[in-house]
Amino acid sequence: MYLISRKNYLAFNLGKLKKLFPNSYNFFPRTWVVPCDMGDLKSFLLSKKNPYVIVKPEASCQGRGIYITKKIDDINSDERHVVQEYLTKPYLIDDLKFDLRIYVLITSCDPLRIFVHEDGLTRFATEEYEKPSSNNVEDMCMHLTNYAINKNNPNFVQNEDPECDDVGHKRSLISTYEYLQEEGYDINGLKERIDDMIIKTLCSVQPNLSHHYRSCQPEDYSRAMCFEVLGFDVIIDKKLNPYVLEVNHTPSFSTDSPLDRKIKKRVISEALELVNVTLQNRKKYYKKLKEEVLKRTMTGKLERIPKEEKQELIETLQKKRNNYEKKHCGGYRKIYPIENYEKYNKYIEAADNLWQEWTGAKILRTRKIEAKSPVPSVPPRPTRTMSNFSRSKPQSANKKLSEAEKIIERPSSSIFERLSQPTIRKFRSTAGYLPGVVYDEKKDMKKDTPNSVNLLPECDKIAIKPRIYNEINCLPTSKPLSHRNTAYTLKDLLIGRPASSAKIKHMEFVFRNKQYLA
Ligand code: ADP
Repeated sequence: MYLISRKNYLAFNLGKLKKLFPNSYNFFPRTWVVPCDMGDLKSFLLSKKNPYVIVKPEASCQGRGIYITKKIDDINSDERHVVQEYLTKPYLIDDLKFDLRIYVLITSCDPLRIFVHEDGLTRFATEEYEKPSSNNVEDMCMHLTNYAINKNNPNFVQNEDPECDDVGHKRSLISTYEYLQEEGYDINGLKERIDDMIIKTLCSVQPNLSHHYRSCQPEDYSRAMCFEVLGFDVIIDKKLNPYVLEVNHTPSFSTDSPLDRKIKKRVISEALELVNVTLQNRKKYYKKLKEEVLKRTMTGKLERIPKEEKQELIETLQKKRNNYEKKHCGGYRKIYPIENYEKYNKYIEAADNLWQEWTGAKILRTRKIEAKSPVPSVPPRPTRTMSNFSRSKPQSANKKLSEAEKIIERPSSSIFERLSQPTIRKFRSTAGYLPGVVYDEKKDMKKDTPNSVNLLPECDKIAIKPRIYNEINCLPTSKPLSHRNTAYTLKDLLIGRPASSAKIKHMEFVFRNKQYLA
């Protein structure tokens, strides 16, 4: 779920689909990932009259590090930020800006099954809202609706009575809907638009989620091995258009007020009821797993169900699940799949295409098609040539690129290049060390070194590091016998080869005897 719950990935995934379906994905404010999109952002700020943007650190939460500006110089291009067009005309209640926290339960990703809880929270800013100007942009209690920020304002009013859920700076979602209905707005229409936004957001990552699910749980035909409660932050503007601001994959379930407790307790307990988490099910599952393992051990074969039987089994399980969910949904309402859900297929297909291009699976497929047919298949939209990528992926000299490969479209934006960079672990350098053995940080050392090395007292580890290295690199025959044994044994232990108990005893003796180390 990081694919939508981190601000930069959300911008990347929704941005891609917004390019393909500008009218359907207009619920996400225009967003730039800095420093990659600095050029675009600059031209946006120059082209508009009063262009306020909100700058958010790439992976933070609770309003930390957020500021509003209209000057490009205020944005540090050395740091990673997500910059978003600031919505200057939010809907106000009691002259205060607010946002909605909507709880969304995903009970399956393949196929998608999405539920929305009828209740949630409305979080209010604590200072009366004014259009952003140089005088007020620094007032976070006016422009941000985060509870973590506003609770520190002396104006903040906590709701003390869960029965009066329309009081204070944190109210129930139901009370806000009721308020809007009393004002004469079409609440069902608003809910439909919010549901639509949620489905479209999840469509953008469905292919990826489903791929990972299938590779982790290939034998799970119920498709019900995991679930997730997401917190969607939604803001509505003066015309009652909803916008997704953020998706939280670990929405806060801490409870500071009785109203908080009432709502969050419902959200959690009804989710557990809906996904049918029970002790009996757990026992049943492990019993079945044990039987299968036993069978496999006895017969030496992995039993595979024929394709048709598998499909039948999946359908039966889905039907069972539908019936169960109808009776146990509590405050949750199913939003996907329902009637006419096929209209979302085009978004999932587009997301699948983009994802395949990103991972390179499309190139492999083109190769396969090409190998079968003598005429190369040509994708309809020629854009960039493969030569643009020759630097990152060296081609062998005598292997010629096929026509189809040359013109295949590749995601090439700078965001793509940056997001696809692997994360490099800080302490995994092998220069001057044995491969995979890290002494610099305790946490890493525990992971990487075999357990038996932990025999060493903490202070000795650093002291012996260069020595072991020298011992192993030099010719052991030129050493006295006791040194040779130590070098061999240490090498065994460090590369993870199981050492004999005699060797371990020898090591213990050596390290007790500090003279050796000196
Ligand atoms: P965080 O994860 O730090 O809470 P958010 O993206 O949720 O970051 O933004 C924090 C608050 O800033 C939101 O609750 C909302 O009030 C305000 N905000 C965020 N983006 C916008 C925007 N594009 N336009 C107007 N207000 C916004």
